[in-house]
Parts: sequence; C-alpha cells; structure tokens
Amino acid sequence: MPFTIAIDGPAASGKGTIAKALSRRFGFHHLDTGLLYRAVGAKGGDPLETARSLTARDLQRPDLRSNEAGQAASRVAIIPEVRLALVEFQRRFAIQEPGAVLDGRDIGTVICPNADLKLYVIASDEVRARRRASEIGADPAETLAALQERDARDQERETAPLRPADNAVILDTTEMSITEAVTDAVRLVIARRKGDGKLT
Ligand code: C5P
Repeated sequence: MPFTIAIDGPAASGKGTIAKALSRRFGFHHLDTGLLYRAVGAKGGDPLETARSLTARDLQRPDLRSNEAGQAASRVAIIPEVRLALVEFQRRFAIQEPGAVLDGRDIGTVICPNADLKLYVIASDEVRARRRASEIGADPAETLAALQERDARDQERETAPLRPADNAVILDTTEMSITEAVTDAVRLVIARRKGDGKLT
C-alpha cells in the first residue's frame, strides 16, 4: 500500500518546502496542487474548459509563482466544477507507490481524507509575507495584502474551504528554520510509518 501524506495550510506557510523535503527524504512523488489552480487562472478563457483540458505544459509556465497568478488561482478555485475537474488527477497521483506527498488547501479534507499523515502548516502573516516576498522578489507590504486577501477567499469559500482536517497535526513554522520544520515533519512520518508496521 502506498503511503500518502497530505499537507495543507495558508499561502507561504512553508508547506511546499516541507512537502518537497519529505518527498526527497522518503523517495515519494510530490504534487504542488496549487500549481493546478495557478495554471487554470493564468491561462484565462473559460476556467472549466481550461481545468478539463489542462496539460503538463500548462504547469510549466514561468509566471505561475507571481502574486497575480496566486490571485487568479484563488478566484477560479471558488468554482465547484473547476475543483471537481481536478479531483481525479490528484487522487490518482496520491496512490502511487511507494508513496506521495500532496500540498494544497483541501488535501486532508477532500482529496485524500484517508491519508496516512495529515499536516496543517501555519505561520504568522508577517513571516509568511516576508518569506514569499523574498522568494519572488516582490514588495513585502503588497505581498502581505495579497496573502491576506487570498487566505480570506480560500477560508470563506463554500466548496472545500481551507481548514485543518480533524486529525491533522498542526505545525507552526513561525519561529522555525526550514531545517527545524523539516526535521519535525520527518519525525512525524517515521512515527506514523512505524505505527503501521512499515520500516522507514
Ligand atoms: O498553494 P498556492 O499558493 O500555489 O495556491 C494558489 C491558490 O490555489 C490558493 O490560494 C487557493 O485558492 C488555490 N488552491 C486550492 N486548493 C488547493 C491548492 C490551491 O484551492 N488544493
């Protein structure tokens, strides 16, 4: 049985970094599900048509990391049919051997409710804005406003709103270095795999 890790949390909380590190450490597949929504938002046109016909090439656009692409993503992510069009791809991705790490907003609640481990990664608004601004070379104040607007939209939407799954482990990375956050996450995976009788 593949081992599935669901990582959710608000924008720039550190979930992508943790997801990447876990996938490397354990040899698991990794899917940044935000890229799917960013690609749909950035491509324009009818979002439902775009979501249904999304290709690997669409996910490689160089402009997907910008604040604008993030805003466009959160606008199309409100549409239930768009979300539905992307469900099957994500669920199939999640059950690949030997395991998969998916990060997003609704992985533990909707996409993989039976994930072996669910993490919900948070950090203060200021720390998240600082991290994202330096990552993409944007203004920190503008980035803070953009993140807060996006978080509100993600938390308040009716379909698959951003929230921790009941059995998610909350990881607050505000005061943590990348190494500390990854070390904590690795420990959680190892403990969960031992609990399942699997060797790490
Ligand atoms: O994670 P990232 O910041 O790239 O996500 C961009 C936007 O895509 C989020 O603000 C959210 O609106 C949407 N998203 C989502 N569900 C996911 C992943 C991302 O609604 N699983």
